Amino acid sequence: MALLAEHGDDAKLLAGGQSLVPLLALRLASPSVLIDLGSVPGLDYIRGDDGHLAIGAMTRERTVERSDLVKSSVPLLSEAMPLIGHLAIRNRGTLGGSTAHADPSAEIPAVAVALDAQVTATSSKRGERTIPASQFFQGFFTTALEPDEALTQVRFPVAGPGTGVAFEEATRRHGDFAMVAAAAAVRIDDGRIGDARIVTIGVSDVPVRCREAEQALIGVEPLASAFEEPSSLAASACDPPSDLHGTSAYRKHLIRVLVRRALEKSTRRPKEQT
Ligand SMILES: Cc1cc2nc3c(=O)[nH]c(=O)nc-3n(C[C@H](O)[C@H](O)[C@H](O)COP(=O)(O)OP(=O)(O)OC[C@H]3O[C@@H](n4cnc5c(N)ncnc54)[C@H](O)[C@@H]3O)c2cc1C
Repeated sequence: MALLAEHGDDAKLLAGGQSLVPLLALRLASPSVLIDLGSVPGLDYIRGDDGHLAIGAMTRERTVERSDLVKSSVPLLSEAMPLIGHLAIRNRGTLGGSTAHADPSAEIPAVAVALDAQVTATSSKRGERTIPASQFFQGFFTTALEPDEALTQVRFPVAGPGTGVAFEEATRRHGDFAMVAAAAAVRIDDGRIGDARIVTIGVSDVPVRCREAEQALIGVEPLASAFEEPSSLAASACDPPSDLHGTSAYRKHLIRVLVRRALEKSTRRPKEQT
């Protein structure tokens, strides 16, 4: 933190290097100082913390993927992890690096926004502050971190009883970044939907929470026919870009299909668990 404060914008933190090293190789980033977090102790942990699961910034993506504690406490995160790149990337990439990098197609930020996770930012001068995920991701590869702050932890709320989750994505090849993905976490109370969280990625410069679609699901019986309208509302909630991977209209189509699939899968799961 002291080095960050000293060098400010001239410095970059190096975590797993899976995004930063390609940027350096392509000369898209050319910081004069690299601060290697790999030699900083105490940033690699997964632990329960007052109804939350706290995960240290330097915890490797593969460690999160393989953790039974993550699977039982934050199943949406567990579900998303194998979709990140390839095994070799997840062996090095870190939860903090992915969150701080804020790629608009990245899975971990989608989970953080869906679950209202809390990000801890630390600086040598001002100490720690907590930033809600909904405010952390501010734009294309842009976060609320100040130049002298490091992300040190992300806290995810533990899933309550009756919760079902699903993470559905469309990629050209396995391991590619998602063209579009949809994350859903629903809670079933007495056979009806009591809470729903839906987030899409690849459709804007930050993960998009589909609040109208969520509202339309409350109190509804989780039948396949009930998911058409919320899926269309999710597609209307954003204006995805066109690029060489697909047109805006195609992405909207993917949102409808993936949100519907995510809702079907997530609402089936609480039943499968009992
Ligand atoms: C071929 C390939 C495919 C990939 N596919 C996917 C994919 O499908 N989905 C996906 O989500 N990701 C994918 N990734 C990216 C991967 O998940 C990265 O590991 C991740 O985005 C960055 O994590 P990292 O630990 O490697 O960070 P680094 O590359 O070390 O750093 C990334 C950025 O974050 C900053 N940073 C790192 N740690 C901190 C911190 N604690 N505080 C503040 N700033 C910090 C760095 O300064 C840098 O700007 C892919 C990468 C590759 C090479």
